[in-house]
Amino acid sequence: MRKIYFLLIVFFLIHSVSGAQSKENLEQSGFAKKELSEYQKAAVDRFLRYVAIDTQSKDDVASIPSTPGQMELAKTLKKEAIEIGLSDVRMDSHGYVYTVLPANGVRNPEKIPTIGFISHIDTSSDVEETKIHPKVHENYQGGDITLSEKEGSKIEAAKNPCLKTCIGSAIITTDGTSLLGADDKSGVAEIMTAMEYLIKHPKIPHGTVKIAFTPDEEVDKGPAGFDLKGFCASFAYTVDGGEDGEINDETFNAASAIVSFHGKSSHPGSAKGAMVNCLFAAAHFLDIIPLEQRPENSDERQGFLYPYELNGGTEKVEVKMLIRDFESVQLETKKEFIRNLVKQTQKTFPQVKIDVAIEDTYKNMKTILASFPFVLSCAEEGMKRAEVTPKKMPIRGGTDGADFSFMGLPCANIFTGTHNEHSREEWIAANSIGKAVETIVNMVCICSEKPEFFGTSGSN
Ligand SMILES: [Zn+2]
Repeated sequence: MRKIYFLLIVFFLIHSVSGAQSKENLEQSGFAKKELSEYQKAAVDRFLRYVAIDTQSKDDVASIPSTPGQMELAKTLKKEAIEIGLSDVRMDSHGYVYTVLPANGVRNPEKIPTIGFISHIDTSSDVEETKIHPKVHENYQGGDITLSEKEGSKIEAAKNPCLKTCIGSAIITTDGTSLLGADDKSGVAEIMTAMEYLIKHPKIPHGTVKIAFTPDEEVDKGPAGFDLKGFCASFAYTVDGGEDGEINDETFNAASAIVSFHGKSSHPGSAKGAMVNCLFAAAHFLDIIPLEQRPENSDERQGFLYPYELNGGTEKVEVKMLIRDFESVQLETKKEFIRNLVKQTQKTFPQVKIDVAIEDTYKNMKTILASFPFVLSCAEEGMKRAEVTPKKMPIRGGTDGADFSFMGLPCANIFTGTHNEHSREEWIAANSIGKAVETIVNMVCICSEKPEFFGTSGSN
């Protein structure tokens, strides 16, 4: 893999100067501010069309996509990509949609690095209701936003400080019965609209742009069927972040654990000396997880141990856990800590047999992205041109970009404008959708205008 990165760095160093565009072209590039409201509206309309399709993904389903609704959205996106004039549109049998915006108006397009944008089409199953009723609150003027009068549900301004920056914008929420699905259908709508903008403005010179819409990100299967070779970008971005300006180049290191407790059942009437009820051992194990190691007490750069599911009865109980830390050494310490908790529990309950199986899930993508500083520079510059302040922050979770980065495609994550993902209070401002569209257009232009960004990578 190091060899691939070395070749990529050499590619940028050799071609960085010859990819430069003329000053006249530079002046033609970028997003015309006067058209912002038109394209913002187009992106919001798209977004509302996409959220109407139920694409909630399901865990523990072997097939990709895990639910049929994702195929429906994938077909819609394929059709739309063809209609707006994108090239090489293809959809595979698993619901991955790939398309290309060919280079335009540049000399030696093969010498300009190929930028990629990726968003996922599925939504989280954290909220059960799948029918989404979006509400558009026009011209927000501050204060709480009512989701349902009847239920008394609302988005509280005090708990959502970003609302202060959205005065005058439309805010899109649900009616409080479901999540919104802005994670990540806003990203899909923003990418699609940015491509439409570039197609409708043929005077803007740019290199080749690769686009992919992927299924089952929420159940960690997005990269599994991704055609990395066919996608063939020099570097990419998942458009799947939160508030305006967010750039993530760092994720947790992640592992999962299954702790199994084996007891012995018998009729409770004749259980004396015979029954070994492993429920008590499982309860003890959960109880001795220190408070400060639990996600509800962790933030910023702290990792955690998260028991998220418990199944079973007297004879067998299974506890499923997530283990997370930004530092790989600390992740190993946390794995060891769990093994020790198991040993302690085993000592207290000698008649219960306890096993633990731990597996790595994904790694911190910073390990890779540290060697490609231009991936961040390009996003930061694209945001600044859209008058968005870049905010580099680690993701307290994972992203498909972490897997893509380790597969050989350096891939950071940029904002969509979504807030309160995976909850009934999920919301997004129309203004943020517009800013994300503008940022994507700017980033495409930067690839051909700012070759110095691509010749400064570190060595690996
Ligand atoms: Zn997402």
